[in-house]
Amino acid sequence: CGIVGYFGQQQATPIIIDGLRRLEYRGYDSAGVAILNGGKIEVRRAKGKLAELETLLGQSPLAGVRGIGHTRWATHGRPSETNAHPHCAGEVAVVHNGIIENYLELKDRLIAQGHEFSSETDTEIIAHLVDQHLSQCGDFETAVRQALGEVRGAYAVAILCQSEPDKMIAAKLGSPLVVGQGQGEFFVASDIPAMLSHTREMIFLEEGELVVYHDGDLRFSDLAGTPVTKTAKTITWSP
Ligand code: GLU
Repeated sequence: CGIVGYFGQQQATPIIIDGLRRLEYRGYDSAGVAILNGGKIEVRRAKGKLAELETLLGQSPLAGVRGIGHTRWATHGRPSETNAHPHCAGEVAVVHNGIIENYLELKDRLIAQGHEFSSETDTEIIAHLVDQHLSQCGDFETAVRQALGEVRGAYAVAILCQSEPDKMIAAKLGSPLVVGQGQGEFFVASDIPAMLSHTREMIFLEEGELVVYHDGDLRFSDLAGTPVTKTAKTITWSP
């Protein structure tokens, strides 16, 4: 399973697919990508190998310079297109590696509050929670913090939001996630090789840390919102 996010000036889809290919060693059963372009998020997902997703993207391309991609190793819900990530709710698209342990109680609550689910995954509750908080507080970053404060379990997540298209937010707790810092470009991935052909400047998130990339500016904090100072490490090895 793997996550790749890109936010910069180049076309995001080929960078994300290439990065996901370099994470194939982690194993997966389905794959997907979400691209944010002109304030709209569009998603393509496919069961099976990345080649299936590439065929779909060939028929139905996604242009744009901001996106998130995922290879899924199913833990909750069978391998299928509808269970593949990214998962969307309202303004928000999420990719997730890990397991949300209290997803059933959160899902029951969200359903009772009128949310409609389209997958069997634990992940989809993250999208709905962020979107619910977003509609209450009106701030993407606050909404992500509130949502992550409600979930129990392990996650690495990368999240996009249509109403705040200049931002990407990523966070980790118990699942791997590394930030790559390029020249006016932002990368996030489960492992270094996914980004190494683009940048060698990597920032390693600690447990419970969150990164907000906003128009070239990189900010790190803990889940409560306390700023954290991080320094990039230069990777000198090649895979
Ligand atoms: N638990 C999530 C799912 O089953 C994420 C699995 C993964 O880490 O790929 O969809």
